Amino acid sequence: MEEAVIIGAGPCGLSAALELQKIGIEPLIIEKESVVHSIYLYPANLQFFSTAELLEIGNYPFSTPNEKPTRAEALTYYRNVANRSGLHIRPYHEVIAIEAQPDGTYALTVQDRFKHISTVTTKYVIVATGYFDYPNLLGIPGEQLPKVTHYFREAHPYTGTKVAVIGGSNSAIDAAMELLRAGADVTVVYRGETYSPSIKPWVRPVFESMVNKGLITMRFRSRVTSISESAIIVSTDGAEEQLDNDFVLALTGFRPDRSMLREAGVAFRGDDQEIPLFNPDTMETSSPGIYIAGVIASGRNANEVFIETGRMHGRFIASHIAGKRS
Ligand code: FAD
Ligand code: NAP
Repeated sequence: MEEAVIIGAGPCGLSAALELQKIGIEPLIIEKESVVHSIYLYPANLQFFSTAELLEIGNYPFSTPNEKPTRAEALTYYRNVANRSGLHIRPYHEVIAIEAQPDGTYALTVQDRFKHISTVTTKYVIVATGYFDYPNLLGIPGEQLPKVTHYFREAHPYTGTKVAVIGGSNSAIDAAMELLRAGADVTVVYRGETYSPSIKPWVRPVFESMVNKGLITMRFRSRVTSISESAIIVSTDGAEEQLDNDFVLALTGFRPDRSMLREAGVAFRGDDQEIPLFNPDTMETSSPGIYIAGVIASGRNANEVFIETGRMHGRFIASHIAGKRS
């Protein structure tokens, strides 16, 4: 029997593990891919918006000669912290169910890459599964075509092609600018009236100037309503137009999946927001011993919790568990 299991080795799951170490618990971290897998999937050339200091966990210093760290530096930092602190991580294992036991403990059903199933029992479960596996889908015809992706890695494969970027926030704007530099013909299709207030203030003037110079086509009040192999249909103020198209990058953000919590018996708020009931001072849900950490604790706006804030959840959890133990 484990004393504590953390599901997900993202920055917030790792932070919770380091806080538990401080109170004398060595948690098992079960991760379906490898450590900080979401950051691994970020755009290859990404530079964080946060400073290195605000991404630190467990008091391990994160230093960089740059103003803000790059994706590669963050991968190095988090895996070094995980290795040096001796965290007990079981990679390439996915937790597929959490079941309450009559004695108040929990049984986790775990599946490996080869679909072998095992069970792990534990007193405390910390769910830190993030949101990156669940992009906001458009629900339009053609979204499943292989030319459509919800993840932008780098611009090179798109050179010389016609690319539609859907969305108007930071991922969409960053991708559009990188695509232009790589020689793609870029159209951004955004449902908003004007530029999104979410765009970072130092990014917006650069992007706007590319639009004003006619280098990137920006379509406001617009939605892609269907995608075919060689074209997209764009609806602007109700008028539909067909555009030639090779690739669609639907950079529409992400939303946590909380079905495992619901199936484990955790209560949810009685509205349409899919938010589990939890105590923000302890991060414990309505099921005693089940905690949430990181972006899975976000509300209507999934971006309201991010590494800077979600890394704090582990401290609340460890302090609550320490209280229970004494
Ligand atoms: P994640 O990092 O998503 O980690 C969850 C982990 O759980 C993953 O490794 C996943 O594989 C694993 N997992 C999921 N389900 C299971 C399961 N059933 N069993 C086992 N393992 C599972 N935030 C900032 O503070 N500053 C920034 O500059 C910043 N830049 C960003 C840039 C981009 C492009 C994006 C998309 C986000 C950015 N964010 C930033 C937000 C940040 O990435 C998220 O808030 C952060 O990843 C949340 O951490 P987490 O540990 O909650 O989840
Ligand atoms: P986001 O901020 O959630 O933005 C999603 C965009 O897609 C919004 O413009 C939204 O429109 C639009 N959208 C959502 N659902 C849609 C739908 N069904 N149909 C059409 N459009 C839809 O997502 P993101 O840009 O991927 O950012 C995610 C997180 O990553 C944020 O925390 C962000 O700060 C971070 N990020 C960081 C960096 C960096 O550190 N360098 C870079 C990129 C992103 P509305 O505007 O109308 O809501």
